[in-house]
Amino acid sequence: MPKIYPIVKFGDPVLEAPTPPITRFDDDLKRLVDDMFASMYEAHGVGLAAPQIGISKRVAVIDVTFKEDPGAKLVLVNPEIIKTEGRQSGSEGCLSLPEFRETVSRPKRVTVRAQNLHGEWFEHSGEDLLARAFMHETDHLYGKLYISHISALKRDLMKRKIRKLMKQGEW
Ligand SMILES: [Zn+2]
Repeated sequence: MPKIYPIVKFGDPVLEAPTPPITRFDDDLKRLVDDMFASMYEAHGVGLAAPQIGISKRVAVIDVTFKEDPGAKLVLVNPEIIKTEGRQSGSEGCLSLPEFRETVSRPKRVTVRAQNLHGEWFEHSGEDLLARAFMHETDHLYGKLYISHISALKRDLMKRKIRKLMKQGEW
């Protein structure tokens, strides 16, 4: 049975630290990825990066169909964005910033290059929500959150609300 991890929330330094690349493609990595999918589904997310369960490693999982299509499950080990095209503006949230959503501008089409669980490199292109997920999850692995793409004014307002929730013990 995979392990369900609690999701780490904004404020924990692990979320803002760049991750070291994965170098070993072993059973521990497979287990970690299984745990990440289970934890993501449990939290009702469509993407999850390892730092969000407190593990600073360069791996993310995505399923923009949320269990609908098993073939849509994507494991991105050591991903890098190699091509972007166009723009899309849409509402974006993050499991590490629960209850908040903001409009974020992202590329419309994105090609990511990553390794699979066997260490083999592949390229995958996506549009719309998948393109957004590629950008969002790759950002996570470099210690970057989506709030770095919104205005300073909105970001400060969000941080003030979070500090208040922290004081009330609700974060
Ligand atoms: Zn996120």
